[in-house]
Order: sequence, then structure tokens, then C-alpha cells
Amino acid sequence: MALDSKIPHGPISDKWTDYKDHINLVNPANKRNLDIIIVGTGLAGGSAAATLAEQGYNVKAFCFQDSPRRAHSIAAQGGINAAKNYKGDGDSVYRLFYDTVKGGDYRAREANVHRLAEVSANIIDQCVAQGVPLAREYGGLLDNRSFGGTLVSRTFYAQGQTGQQLLLGAYSAMNRQIGRGKIKMYNRHEMLDLVIVNGKARGIIARNLVTGEIERHSAHAVVVGSGGYGNVFFLSTNAMGSNATAAWKIHKKGAFFANPCYTQIHPTCIPVSGDHQSKLTLMSESLRNDGRIWVPAKLEDAQAIREGKKKATDLSEAERDYFLERRYPAFGNLVPRDVASRAAKERCDAGFGVNKTGEAVYLDFAAAIKRYGTEEAFVKGLDANDAALVTKLGAEIVKSKYGNLFQMYYKIVDEDPYTTPMMIYPAVHYTMGGTWVDYNLMTTIPGCFSIGESNFSDHGANRLGASALMQGLADGYFVLPYTIGDYLAPDIKMGPISTDLPEFLAAEKEVKDQIDRFINNKGTHSVDYFHKKLGKIMWDKVGMARNAQGLTEAIEEIAALREEFYKDVKVPGSANEFNQELEKATRVADFLELGELFAKDALHRNESCGGHFREEYQTEEGEALRDDENFAYVAAWEYKGKPSDAVLHKEPLVYENIKLVQRSYK
Ligand SMILES: Cc1cc2nc3c(=O)[nH]c(=O)nc-3n(C[C@H](O)[C@H](O)[C@H](O)COP(=O)(O)OP(=O)(O)OC[C@H]3O[C@@H](n4cnc5c(N)ncnc54)[C@H](O)[C@@H]3O)c2cc1C
Repeated sequence: MALDSKIPHGPISDKWTDYKDHINLVNPANKRNLDIIIVGTGLAGGSAAATLAEQGYNVKAFCFQDSPRRAHSIAAQGGINAAKNYKGDGDSVYRLFYDTVKGGDYRAREANVHRLAEVSANIIDQCVAQGVPLAREYGGLLDNRSFGGTLVSRTFYAQGQTGQQLLLGAYSAMNRQIGRGKIKMYNRHEMLDLVIVNGKARGIIARNLVTGEIERHSAHAVVVGSGGYGNVFFLSTNAMGSNATAAWKIHKKGAFFANPCYTQIHPTCIPVSGDHQSKLTLMSESLRNDGRIWVPAKLEDAQAIREGKKKATDLSEAERDYFLERRYPAFGNLVPRDVASRAAKERCDAGFGVNKTGEAVYLDFAAAIKRYGTEEAFVKGLDANDAALVTKLGAEIVKSKYGNLFQMYYKIVDEDPYTTPMMIYPAVHYTMGGTWVDYNLMTTIPGCFSIGESNFSDHGANRLGASALMQGLADGYFVLPYTIGDYLAPDIKMGPISTDLPEFLAAEKEVKDQIDRFINNKGTHSVDYFHKKLGKIMWDKVGMARNAQGLTEAIEEIAALREEFYKDVKVPGSANEFNQELEKATRVADFLELGELFAKDALHRNESCGGHFREEYQTEEGEALRDDENFAYVAAWEYKGKPSDAVLHKEPLVYENIKLVQRSYK
């Protein structure tokens, strides 16, 4: 399939306007005859549901949690980007566009990124109008801070709870539509398959997670906003429930899966503390505005710290290596995530790690506390030479900015980050890959759309901080509601779609058969046993640094593990009840296929770019070495029965407004 025929190249404000005109052809009254299923009510799905219902469509929305408020989006901490230039630091639509394409290591689609930058400012206006309490300056203007990979302050935030506040905004908008009867909400329902009738997505099969009942639901279009697949690694900063099932099921029904190997490893997470863990915790990137990252400059100091003979605070400035500031003087601690993560790993691999396992670096706020405290002493007319007073005042400012994050750290690690540096290490955080979508956000299945983290669209090989919320809300509030009408317009006289069609019955049977197979399997190991094993293969061989040999081994090991899983997994309980082991089994079954495709994609991409770091392809300084001649394309995989049989389609990446260069943050 020639994927690029569906894609306008270059920034295309003119074409974007055309879409808006086109949708006006759809009489609002006709929208009342059209049903849309939305799978997922996180920030992407929730905002889309509210907007489409407001436009007049009948929306059926599904989420597996007990409320849309509990979508993983609620965990987003640091902020959301928008090119508003409130700080007067020269920000613009072009600059946000440029930073995002460069941040993604020139592996994103230019036209999409430009559209994202164009609508970014609207998102902030929309959310403020909803009452989202974004942080404000003393004078009343919305405040901004910086995130990695940019030299401007364009990140809007609500302390360390930005996702929560934005989600409450979208949820409130949804609730209004639920109240009006325009959204029918299906909480605790999990989509387990897509139904295709005459080549078009016309419904889903869902399991009621409370009763176990399998239900058929029809619509004129299906939108998947089911989030990312970072939990294929078992340990990640994603919510425990985040999974790939909805995205993977549509892949198996014909939606191409793009760039599965593009994963983001976030540099500032609380390090792994042992085998018992099932979850990792993020310390927001916003902390890199004020925190300085370092390790001891001398190996003997690092060893003494690991053995508990020295503390971080025993080391003088001269005995510290602020390695990001040293290597990247222009961006310093605010280099993009892939760059910061690799630099931390490099130091730890060289023996400079500071926790017992040697896999941690420091994130230190002492300088910020002193700086803020001194300024505050001046503002209040107090003695700026009184060190204790300055520290107290500075800590108060830091608390007002990041208080909830510091509290989280304290509760998990039992150390006070106001007085001793945090210990952090990279962890799996976000997946740039996902279902391939065209410019209208439609997958390769007509009538099946994908939005938010579940699609591959805008971030290339590395997402910049605070850009996921921007993309999810752009998709939900401003893109899909305008592009979906283009597809739906011919269906306005079609009327409701019966769920008794043979295609629905066949899909339902497939789902029931898989569930029966799990329930009747007399295996010996829990689902988590297999998930952990998968996670270990993924982290060791498909993680932060990859090579051909490790990837080849991973592909074989995952395939073997999948076989063992089907033979030996034990799922207690029955199908007709609330059964979380059963839920996990269906999700891990999908991760076991996705993991293999992930490794296959990483193996085929003989270059390094963004979060995809192949050890064979690096510059002398250890930076990612792209091969634009051979790999400037989106890798979109078509399902053919087994991951090993998946067929590669290429969408060429054509850059008309940005010159491809080696990324530099020096
Ligand atoms: C700890 C953390 C902090 C972050 N902080 C930031 C930040 O500060 N700024 C930023 O821009 N990004 C941040 N991100 C990334 C960002 O939070 C996510 O990319 C974004 O929230 C994803 O939104 P979404 O709507 O696509 O998916 P989600 O919020 O994951 O929602 C998925 C929805 O799909 C539903 N669902 C999934 N599968 C099914 C199924 N089979 N059937 C029915 N329903 C289903 C779920 O119930 C849920 O409603 C952070 C990520 C993490 C992990």
C-alpha cells in the first residue's frame, strides 16, 4: 500500500482550512443519525467524546476503569506545551514545530507536527475556559516553565498535577454530554475486538468487567484512544492497567502498526529497588528546570557512596561531575529525554552510579534552593547572608513549585529531597510508536481512527516533554472532530447498524473462545510470571541500548515464551465474574505478540535515532547516528498471522520546511 499518497507533505495551513470547509458540508442535523464508538476516555478519548457529542454525534464511550477520571492521563505531572510566547522569549508556531521535529530526531511527519503547533495555543484557551486551574504568575498571566529540548518557556502547568487537572476539565465536558444523553458511558468495559463489515469498522466486542458478559456494540465509526504500550516492559511509569489490547486488536484486523520500537526511556524516575516491584515512579521532567544532575567525579567517591561510607552532601563542587552541563553546555540539564537518559546510563556503566545497584545519579536542588532563597530574602527585605534563612525561604519556593513530587519521593524512598539530592535513573515511560494513521487520524481500516498515545503520529523517534498532553488534546478537541466528518458524510442516511450481522457474531465467538481457552487452561504459572519474564527480555535486549545479536535473541525468546504462556498459564476463577487475572491474561497475550514485533522493528532499523539506540550506530561521542539515506521513513507493519510474518510498508518522510541535520544540543 502506498502510504504516502494519503499524506500532505510540509506545513499545510491551507489544506487544514480546507478540511474545516469540507466538514461544513455536513448538516448538523445529520450528525444525529451517526453513532461513534470511542474506546478510551483518557485525555485524547475524553476530549474527543465531549467535542463530538457537542457537535451532535451520538457517542458511546468505553473505559476499563470505574470512571474516566482514572485514566492513566491523570498521572501526567509536568505540563503541556503551547506556542503562546507569554514569556516573550521568541516562541512561535514555527519554533514549536521545529523543536518537535528536531526533538523527534527527524522521524516525525512534518505536516502533522505543524498542525499540532498551530492548534497548541487553542488547547490552552479551551482548558482555561473549562476552568482548568493552570498556574499563574503574580500578575495573573498564565505561567510557563521549560521542558527538555527547547530554549524557551512554553510549558503550561498545574503544579505537578497537570494531567489530573486537564482530565477533570475533559471529564466535566463529557459529563455535561452524558447528562444531555449525547454520550452513553460504558465504564468497566474492555474492548476485546473490532468488528469490520464490508471493509469498514462498524463496531466492537466488549467485556463487561463486572459481570463478565460479552457485549456487541455497533457504530458508524470506531475511535481508539487507548493509550500507550510501555507496560510491554512490565516495569514502567505507566499506570498498572495501561495495555495495548485495543490497539493490538485493531492491528490484527488490518490497522498497520507504526514504529513499534520507538520507546521513550525517561531519565528522571525513582530507581528500581528490587525484584518485588511492579511499578516505577516518575519524577517529572519539570524538576530539571531547577534540579542539577550529577555523579561523583572520582570513581572512589562513587564507590564510597555506594558502600554507605560517604554521602552526596560530603562532596564539594569540585568533586562533582555535572555531566549534562559538561557535555551539552547550551541545553545543560534540559537536553531531551533520550539524550539525558543515555548520558546517565553511560556514567553508571562506567562505574559512577550512586545507589547500591550502581544504577542511579543525583538530581540536586541545593543550588535552586539557594538561588530562590536569596531572591526571596531581597524581596522581603531580609538578610540574604543568613544561610539558614535563605535555605528556608528557598525550600518554600521549591515546595510551591514541586511540593507533591517531593512528597512522593519522600514517601517512596524515605529520604528528604530538600536536604539530600534525589536519586534517579531512566525508566520506560512513553511509546512514540502506535497504530499508523493518515493525516485525518484514520488507520488503514476505513472508519477506524486512532488518537492520543495509541497512534504513532507526531513525535518521531523521541517525544519532547509536555508534548503528549498537547498531542492528545489536539487530536481530541481540534483534529478528529473536524476530520471524522469527512469520512462519515456518506453515511448520514444509513441508519443504525445491527449487531446481529454475522461479522458481529464471528468476532464475539473469537473473543469467547479466547476467554474459554484461558479459563480452561490447567497451567501452573500466574500471568505476572510471564509478564515479568517478557519485561526482562525487553529491558535487557530491546531496552535503552540495542544490538543485532540481542535483538535476534529477543525475537526467539519472546516467541518461545508466548508458546509457554499458552501451555502453562493459570487463570483462576471463571469467565462470568469480576476476574482481574483473566483481564491480565488477555492483555499479556497481546504484549507477547507486540513485544516480538517491537524487537523485529528495532532489528530492521539499522540506524540509531531518538529513543532507538543501536549500539552499532553511534557517533564517536556516543550520540545516535541516523541513516537518512536508508531510514527516513515510517515503518508501518501489516499483520499476517504471526509477528515474524509481519510485512513492512514504508511511508517516506519528506521534509520541505526543515533541513535534516545531525541533532546537537551543545
Ligand atoms: C507518570 C507519567 C507522567 C506524565 N507526564 C506528562 C506530562 O507532564 N506532560 C505530557 O505531555 N505527557 C505526560 N505523560 C504522557 C501522557 O500522560 C500520556 O501520553 C497521555 O496521558 C495519554 O493519554 P491518552 O488519552 O492517549 O491515553 P490514557 O490516558 O492512557 O487513556 C487510555 C484510555 O483508554 C482506555 N482503554 C484502554 N484500553 C481499553 C480497552 N481495551 N477497552 C476499553 N477502554 C480501554 C482506558 O480505560 C483509558 O480510558 C506522562 C506519562 C506518565 C507515565
